[in-house]
Amino acid sequence: MRRPLDIRAAFALSKSMRLVDVDAANDMAMDAIDEAYQEGIADGHRGNDAISLLFTDEPALRRAWQEGQDFAAELAEMAACPGCHDDAGRPCVRHG
Ligand SMILES: [Zn+2]
Repeated sequence: MRRPLDIRAAFALSKSMRLVDVDAANDMAMDAIDEAYQEGIADGHRGNDAISLLFTDEPALRRAWQEGQDFAAELAEMAACPGCHDDAGRPCVRHG
């Protein structure tokens, strides 16, 4: 996994790439957004709820990181929810 600085740099580079190759630029941007999402999950698992300053002023990265945080929080909630542990591994009504 790349660190926030690398993710931010790749996202910035994708904007320049847009002048040359729009498809490649979109791929680069999507990769960076996905990595910001993964970083949000990883930070959530580590108990870090402070977003990197490198993501805060870039709406797409900020949103993706927050979505990762929310997903990590939901996983933690489900792991602690007795209703989510039936024999078939189905989530409870609230988390399903
Ligand atoms: Zn549940």
